[in-house]
Amino acid sequence: MQTSLIHLPSTSKDRLAAAITAAIALIGAFIVWPHARQPGPVIVPFLPIFATWVTLTEGLTAFLLWTQYRISGRLLFATLSGAYAFVSLIAAIQLIVFPGVFSAGGLLGAGPQTAIWIWVFWHGGFPALVTVSLAARSWAPSLRNRASGHVALLGALSLASCCAALAIVGKDVLPVVVASGGSYSNLSSSPAALIVEATCLAALGLHVSTTRLRSLMDLWLAVALLAALIDVTLTLSAGARYSVGWYAARLASMLSSSAVLGMLIYETTGLYRKLTDTHEKLLESSARDGLTGVFNRAYFDERYSREHALAASSGYPLCVLLIDVDNFKAYNDTFGHLAGDDCLRKVAHALTETLARTGDFVARYGGEEFVVVLPACDAAAGLAVAEKLRAAVESATLPAPRPGTVVTISVGLACRDAASRQTAKALLEAADAGLYAAKAGGRNRVASARFGKASGGLVRQTSASSS
Ligand code: GH3
Ligand code: MG
Ligand code: MG
Repeated sequence: MQTSLIHLPSTSKDRLAAAITAAIALIGAFIVWPHARQPGPVIVPFLPIFATWVTLTEGLTAFLLWTQYRISGRLLFATLSGAYAFVSLIAAIQLIVFPGVFSAGGLLGAGPQTAIWIWVFWHGGFPALVTVSLAARSWAPSLRNRASGHVALLGALSLASCCAALAIVGKDVLPVVVASGGSYSNLSSSPAALIVEATCLAALGLHVSTTRLRSLMDLWLAVALLAALIDVTLTLSAGARYSVGWYAARLASMLSSSAVLGMLIYETTGLYRKLTDTHEKLLESSARDGLTGVFNRAYFDERYSREHALAASSGYPLCVLLIDVDNFKAYNDTFGHLAGDDCLRKVAHALTETLARTGDFVARYGGEEFVVVLPACDAAAGLAVAEKLRAAVESATLPAPRPGTVVTISVGLACRDAASRQTAKALLEAADAGLYAAKAGGRNRVASARFGKASGGLVRQTSASSS
């Protein structure tokens, strides 16, 4: 039994979907790249929308990965959750300090270099933390120490806070990479850019070569790392905010933040659907009789009282047929109990196959007795169905102990209509009385017993049809 998404192997369909996503991202990047420096329109709301998107999707991914950690106890999920929580927090802080969003210079005492340095820490930190998770997978594949998961998550969040604090407090110490007017072309040629780009590339290469993208999780993590690499490359080629490359890089970043989340949501929904199917199958099998496959007594009791209540409230008629296999003791004594079991299966099959309407059902009442319920069926139609059932078993020609004879059934029929108003118990007793009458009449026949109140007790009128 698979306990978490890490175990879900990637199918060829998954690999195709990931390959198409990666190809679209790469083709888009190649198309944009020559025009990356071209200035674009300054759409001020774009950045808040982008940052909110990233914060929420990365936060949600971190949460879902954390739940995977809680289910599986594997440190890998805690470290991956940390990587996503790191980005969620740092993207939120970048939005707060970004010039022109909440204030001209950015909040929290940010300087002109703060937002871009946060970008550097963010884009270097994410692939680095994903690589740490890769190491956690090899070093501690099944570590179930709860404390280490918390340390990984809190460590990543502290790292995000420290990086943001460094970018804010150290604004005068860190190298100047943004010129007035928003150009950060100095960054492209700085060692920081080289480190970020190299970290992204190394993380992607290590991830693909180590995991070989066997699991679904690894597959979409690779797409996220590739999109992050495209984001970094386009941002560095763009050289200035609100340029074509800058916008395209933000779109790649949105893809990076959504890839794993999309997979997690899709797979969780798929697992939920499978769980519902399994639950339904379990309910269905718990309602079935193990030997014959028809509904069992517990199901009959519950469903019959429901059907009876419905008939009582709607005024529709309801027929109940009690069925007993004739001379079955002799059958067992002659052919043995295993052959007897097989015979019961065949009788049950003949009964089930004969019932045509959706609402009708057959259940094993006990031993070699079955019960059939026919909702919204009057006495005349009920008698016809009972006769059909009797004939179906007879024509199955299951050899009976006495040479030249076949297995037969006796059927007791009772019908409730708006006028008779029997209780569920009385209706069943009436069917039982019919069954006794069928047996007394010589077996292999249908009999109905109708009850009417008369002074001094119940009066039984029996009608029988024999083959
Ligand atoms: P009648 O025609 O009056 O119904 O006679 P009968 O022999 O069928 O009735 P009786 O109640 O004497 O015997 C019922 C037999 O059904 C006895 C029991 O061994 C057999 N039986 C009940 N449940 C099962 C079962 O699950 N498998 C098998 N093989 N036999 C069963
Ligand atoms: Mg019996
Ligand atoms: Mg019997």
